[in-house]
Formats: sequence, structure tokens, C-alpha cells
Amino acid sequence: MQFACYLAHGHYNKEKTSEIAEMRKTNQGSKWIRKSTRLAIYYRDGFCCVYCGAAGESSGVGLTLDHIAAQELGGSSDPSNLVTACLSCNSAKQHLTMRGWLKRMRSKGINTERVARRIRALVSKKLNRVEGRRLERIRSARKA
Ligand SMILES: [Zn+2]
Repeated sequence: MQFACYLAHGHYNKEKTSEIAEMRKTNQGSKWIRKSTRLAIYYRDGFCCVYCGAAGESSGVGLTLDHIAAQELGGSSDPSNLVTACLSCNSAKQHLTMRGWLKRMRSKGINTERVARRIRALVSKKLNRVEGRRLERIRSARKA
């Protein structure tokens, strides 16, 4: 689990640990989805948070998967209901209704209509398995 290193190296603060606790509670860590599917969704979304545009490293560190329709409300864990989100957006969104979340994004100057259009386009794409040469490229970018 990648977060274990935050704790081991002391690079954590109260906010971060509560985010992690929140993620563990709702997502059961990262075990709820296959690693290859997670990577394929990050790849589909360009390794960027769909909400704020923050780019994760090509390895996907710092990125999470967000359920567009919340699991609590019956949203599925199908790739068509999952998008790449940075830890901070994902954590903030969890505590808000969709309306509240959109309002918050707008207050940060984010064009939510554009975000919604982009999300619709992304989730309607067929998910490609990340393997072979593409996987090699991601792995080598990670080492660089
Ligand atoms: Zn974000």
C-alpha cells in the first residue's frame, strides 16, 4: 500500500491521515479494483484529475479513482462510473452532494460544464488494457 510510506517516513499531517482513513473506510484501500483496471482508467483519463486537472506522476501516485455516482447511492464500480481524481478532490467530494461539489469547483474558477463534458466523453470510451509497449512506456517514465 503506497500510503504506508507516508507514515514510515513521517511525511504526513493530520489532514492527510484523515484523508487516508476516509479512503480506507469507503474504498477498503486499493483492493476493491484490479490494479490493471485502475491503471487502464488512469490511462484513459490521461493520468490527470478530471476535476481540477492536477497531473499525477505517470505511475498514478497521488491519484485515486472516484465514483461519479457514489457507491452509497448505488453507483457501480464499473469503469463507466469511475474517473481519475486527485486525492484532494476525491476527499473533498466525498463530503459533499454533487450540487455542493459543483458549487465548490465553480468557486475555484473551474468550468464545471467543461468538466462534465470531458467526463462524459471519457467514460463513454472503451477501456483499453494497458499492456505491452504502453505499459513499458509508463514503467520507464516512472523510473526517469
Ligand atoms: Zn483534483
